[in-house]
Amino acid sequence: MALVTAYIAIGANLGQARLSVQQAMQALGQLPLTRLIHGSSLYRTAPIASDPSRPTSATSPDFINAVAAIETGLTAPDLLLHLQALELAAGRERPYPDAPRTLDLDILLYGSAQMDSAQLVIPHPRMTQRAFVLVPLAEIAPALVTSAQLAAVAHQSIEKLLPAVS
Ligand code: ADP
Ligand code: MG
Repeated sequence: MALVTAYIAIGANLGQARLSVQQAMQALGQLPLTRLIHGSSLYRTAPIASDPSRPTSATSPDFINAVAAIETGLTAPDLLLHLQALELAAGRERPYPDAPRTLDLDILLYGSAQMDSAQLVIPHPRMTQRAFVLVPLAEIAPALVTSAQLAAVAHQSIEKLLPAVS
């Protein structure tokens, strides 16, 4: 079985968003054929609309984001199905684009694979536009993010959260 290192973006902005992100991080490590290699810190970011003409920031609470590195024997489509099952288990609904969500799990990178199907585009097409992806990704995998990419999103506000005291 080929093991692949994949990077997953985790986001939540409803309910106990911080807890949802931490639980999702643990759940990733419990998927079949999968282990969690590295989890980034948690970050707080203001929401960004995928359609910039439609502002969401007035209605949508801040996001909690993180990135996880996993090693998996799942294929990319199977991994996506498992991520969607975790989203559903977290009570996710999709009433409209960019709606606040209890949990969003996106595959950023799956080894060096490139794919472009109706269900799955890898590398994730918007990852380089988003500080909430690039900053946590750079924390756990600095070689995957260039300083030019970070500079291009430096205007987006993002705040690293201190680890919760356990
Ligand atoms: P977004 O994450 O863009 O805010 P959704 O989570 O609702 O929006 O995802 C919409 C669709 O994006 C999913 O049904 C999934 O099939 C597709 N998709 C395409 N590429 C990816 C990817 N790399 N990771 C996760 N979902 C993806
Ligand atoms: Mg998603």
